[in-house]
Amino acid sequence: MQETWNSFPQQYREQAYAVLEVLRKHDRFIVCAHASPDGDAVGSTAMMAFVLKALGKQVIIYNTSGLPDYLRWLPQPCYWHTHLSPLPFTPEVAIVLDCGEAHRTGEEMASSLAAGLPCINIDHHRGNPLFGTVANWVDPDFAATAQAIAYIAQAAGLALKGDIAKNLGLALLTDTGGFAHGNTNVHVLALVTHLVGLGLDIPALREQLDHQWSLGRMRLWGKLMGSVALRRRDTIAFIAIPYSLFQETGATKEDLEGFVDMMRRLKGVKATIMLREDKPKLCKFSLRSAGDIDVRAAAASLNGGGHKNAAGGTIKLPLPEAAEAVVQAVSEELDQEGE
Ligand code: 5GP
Ligand code: MN
Repeated sequence: MQETWNSFPQQYREQAYAVLEVLRKHDRFIVCAHASPDGDAVGSTAMMAFVLKALGKQVIIYNTSGLPDYLRWLPQPCYWHTHLSPLPFTPEVAIVLDCGEAHRTGEEMASSLAAGLPCINIDHHRGNPLFGTVANWVDPDFAATAQAIAYIAQAAGLALKGDIAKNLGLALLTDTGGFAHGNTNVHVLALVTHLVGLGLDIPALREQLDHQWSLGRMRLWGKLMGSVALRRRDTIAFIAIPYSLFQETGATKEDLEGFVDMMRRLKGVKATIMLREDKPKLCKFSLRSAGDIDVRAAAASLNGGGHKNAAGGTIKLPLPEAAEAVVQAVSEELDQEGE
């Protein structure tokens, strides 16, 4: 048991035990994360369900978008429901993970929460309004939400190995960009050292994660690369993706994952913008930056959110107007920061 404490920082113990105490008081849980879940959302959801099962609780996993295809190989503790009915039992409490706002769970869960389904909110987005009605553990210093779940598992005396460790490894790899982003701090590396010590094979995990592309996705990226444009004296890289491109190529939203990060490879670029048309007057934007450049502030000015170096949101405008609004918001942020 002693080895499980090595990577469990003192400052997180109190909160981890407090959440564990709350979990012990309930029996029937529904665990969910944001729609279109990324590696942290998926890993956190799975880890929480593993922890609850180990505590002898009844657990349902729910996500409005389901488990993404590219993560089908990842060991899961149970089935992923995509609707709130029918469910095998009526949950007493929802655990909402990696959601800066309750509405990011999708319409169905957001209405259930608004209608009074008790909620435990665990997250790492700055500006999270602490919407949990039973408990909140929100810490923007976490590189990934899964870090909080790892500490809760530690508090429960569970070893971070096997399937739970794979999910944690995936979450940390995703939200730190392969231990390369500014959020890769000493606690993350201590946790990874601990995981590897207990047998997690990070290269094998990466191997599975990095060999998921279809030829269609490769062709789509080729097309997209030809459309990247530079704005604001070449300090912003921008791409707008019309809905028709999905119809033409058969590509999915998932195929775009990582493109906005890849755009940061352009020399001299301070911030990148990817804008995707989902409906005639509904666009989704993704922003990326590095270091002190705060794209979350730009996203927040358009009612979005996220982290300093990775943020996003939706705009209810046609693609050309949305493009203008988002380039303007990011430009203003760069102006303000004197970049
Ligand atoms: P992505 O661009 O990969 O979708 O998201 C990047 C970051 O921005 C993630 O941390 C995500 O949680 C956050 N984010 C994306 N879309 C939204 C949104 O509509 N609202 C808020 N508050 N955050 C978002
Ligand atoms: Mn996250």
